[in-house]
Amino acid sequence: MSIKVITDKCNGCKFCMSACPLDAIKVENKKAAIELEKCNLCSACISACKSNAIVIEKKEIKVVNKEDYRGVWVFAEQKNGEIDSVSYELLGEGRKLADKLGEELSAVLVGADIRKEAEKLICYGADKVYVVDNPMLKEYQDSSYSKALFSLIQRHKPSILLGGATTIGRSLLPRLAVMLPTGLTADCTGLDIDDEKKLLLQTRPAFGGNIMATIICPDYRPQMATVRPRVMKKLAEEPSRKGEIIDEDVRFIRRDIMTEIVNVVKDTTIHVNLQDAEIIVSGGRGLKAPENFKIIRELADALGGAVGSSRAAVDAGWIPYSHQVGQTGKTVAPKIYFACGISGAIQHQVGMRTSDVIIAINKDPQAPIFQIASYGIVGDLFQVVPALTKKFKEVSN
Ligand SMILES: Cc1cc2nc3c(=O)[nH]c(=O)nc-3n(C[C@H](O)[C@H](O)[C@H](O)COP(=O)(O)OP(=O)(O)OC[C@H]3O[C@@H](n4cnc5c(N)ncnc54)[C@H](O)[C@@H]3O)c2cc1C
Repeated sequence: MSIKVITDKCNGCKFCMSACPLDAIKVENKKAAIELEKCNLCSACISACKSNAIVIEKKEIKVVNKEDYRGVWVFAEQKNGEIDSVSYELLGEGRKLADKLGEELSAVLVGADIRKEAEKLICYGADKVYVVDNPMLKEYQDSSYSKALFSLIQRHKPSILLGGATTIGRSLLPRLAVMLPTGLTADCTGLDIDDEKKLLLQTRPAFGGNIMATIICPDYRPQMATVRPRVMKKLAEEPSRKGEIIDEDVRFIRRDIMTEIVNVVKDTTIHVNLQDAEIIVSGGRGLKAPENFKIIRELADALGGAVGSSRAAVDAGWIPYSHQVGQTGKTVAPKIYFACGISGAIQHQVGMRTSDVIIAINKDPQAPIFQIASYGIVGDLFQVVPALTKKFKEVSN
C-alpha cells in the first residue's frame, strides 16, 4: 500500500498536517507533501482532508491458480548441519496432512554441506527432500534462505508449507509470506484438513489464550503455518523408508548475503533445557515465596528432572523467565509433568498439556489443572512435595 496527495484537489488548508500524529506532512506553496519514510498509513490525514485530496493506493495482489499447487512441505531447519527436532515433529504432522489430502510430503533442506542429512528426513516420513547445498548458505541469513525457499516454491508450487516457531522460523516464514505473497498463521497448536474444501485448518490461541481460533487461507498459496517445538509428535524413525533426494540449484549473488557473521557467542546463562527434559517439576504461585522453590528443585533432582514454573512465579521474580512454561514461555511435552501449586490457567495449559502424564498437586479441588491431570493430589504442596521427594529417594537408593 502507498499514500499520495492529489495535488489538483489539495487547497493547502493544513488540516492534514495538524491531524498527522507522526509529523509526516508538510505544506509548501499551498500543497501538502507526505514524507513516506515517516508515514505509517494510519489514515488520520485522509479523515481530516475535506477535499478528498489524499488517497491510499492498494497494490493489486495477483490471485494464484490454486489447482497448480500440490503437496505438503516442511522447512527442515538445521544448525551446523544438525537437523532441529522440530523438523521431525513437523514431518510427523505433515505426514497426516499429506495422507489426508492424498498428496506427497516433502522436506526442504537448505544449508552448506548438509546433503548427508537428507536421508534422515525420509526415515521420519518425507517422500521427497529438496536440497539446496551451497557454501554461501553456511550460516542462517534471512535474505539468502528466503531466496532459496522462494525459488523452490516458485518452481514446485507446494500447497502447504510448515516451519518451526523457532528463532529462525519466526524470522524466515513471515519474510517469505510477504515475498510470495500469502498468509501465515504463527504458533499453531493444531493442524488439520477441511474434509470438504481441502483447506489447511490452522488452530492457535487468540485473545490472550481465551479462545482457540481456526484460521484458513482460502485464496493464496502456499498455506503457511509455524508450530512451536514439542507441540507435534514425530514418527518413529524407520531406516527402511524409501524416498527421493532432489538437488536444487539456486544461484546466489553477493548482494543476497547482506550480513557477515563475525562470531557466534553462546548464551551460557541458560542452564535449563526444559524442552528436552523427560521429567519436569513446575511450581506456581502456590509456593508463596521464592525460597520455597527449594522443595521443587529437590523433587526435580530426586527424579533427574528439570524445574519449570508458571508465569505468576516468574512475574513475581521468584525464578528466571527461562523456566516459564506456557503460551508466553516454553512448550514442553515431557514423559511426566508435575504441576505444584499451579491453578492450570489456559495460558499455562497450552504449554504443557501434551505431556504424557500430568500430576497435579493443589489444595483446591476445583483448580482447572485437575481437568487435564492424569493423577490429581488434593492437598498442601508443602506436605505432599517433600513426602514425594522422600519416597522417590528411598526407591532409588
Ligand atoms: C497473554 C497472557 C499470556 C500468559 N502466558 C502465560 C504462560 O506462558 N505461562 C503461565 O503459566 N501463565 C501465563 N499467563 C498467566 C496465566 O493466565 C495465569 O495467571 C498463571 O498461569 C497463574 O499462575 P499460577 O497457577 O502459578 O497462579 P494462580 O492462578 O494464582 O494459582 C495458584 C494455585 O496454587 C494453589 N495453592 C495455593 N497454596 C497452595 C498450597 N499450599 N498447596 C497446594 N496448592 C496451593 C491454589 O489453589 C491455586 O490453584 C498468561 C496470561 C496472559 C494474559
